[in-house]
Amino acid sequence: MLQEQEAHAAEMERTFIAIKPDGVQRALISEIISRFERKGFKLVAIKIVIPSKGFAEKHYHDLKERPFFNGLCDFLSSGPVLAMVWEGEGVIKYGRKLIGATDPQKSEPGTIRGDLAVVVGRNIIHGSDGPETAKDEINLWFKPEELVSYTSNTEKWVYGDN
Ligand code: GDP
Ligand code: MG
Repeated sequence: MLQEQEAHAAEMERTFIAIKPDGVQRALISEIISRFERKGFKLVAIKIVIPSKGFAEKHYHDLKERPFFNGLCDFLSSGPVLAMVWEGEGVIKYGRKLIGATDPQKSEPGTIRGDLAVVVGRNIIHGSDGPETAKDEINLWFKPEELVSYTSNTEKWVYGDN
């Protein structure tokens, strides 16, 4: 049993998820949070912030050569963003599945972007695309003390304990 718990702990991952200003303004916060929560993932950090343009440029630094970069950073810094860290087995990759393809015209129905967004420039949500970006983005948006480690009562039902 102890070994099972240790194996479970070893597989735990964290990812950075943000509801962009369009998702916040469209009152989709609870809808989006509930999809991660109902799946069985655990919320370990959350805050609402209006990022500066410079901060948005840091967040999207890997896209700085793209023609939409300036507009994208203007948009991210145009209003409140709900920044979160979610934890769970496979949460980085599965979080991206819950979110759906970048272009909502190509996102499957049932995904967040597929169900709730129409165009790529207003696709309402961000999710880290891999373990390295997850680590970098969590460090960019949150101080270590803003991340809360706790045991959820649902964990033994989500993961099993034998
Ligand atoms: P993501 O990881 O699925 O969010 O996609 P990317 O990392 O490739 O791009 C980051 C964000 O830039 C996307 O979520 C979109 O908001 C925006 N974006 C990506 N491609 C385009 C594009 O072709 N046009 C515009 N206007 N925005 C884009
Ligand atoms: Mg991306």
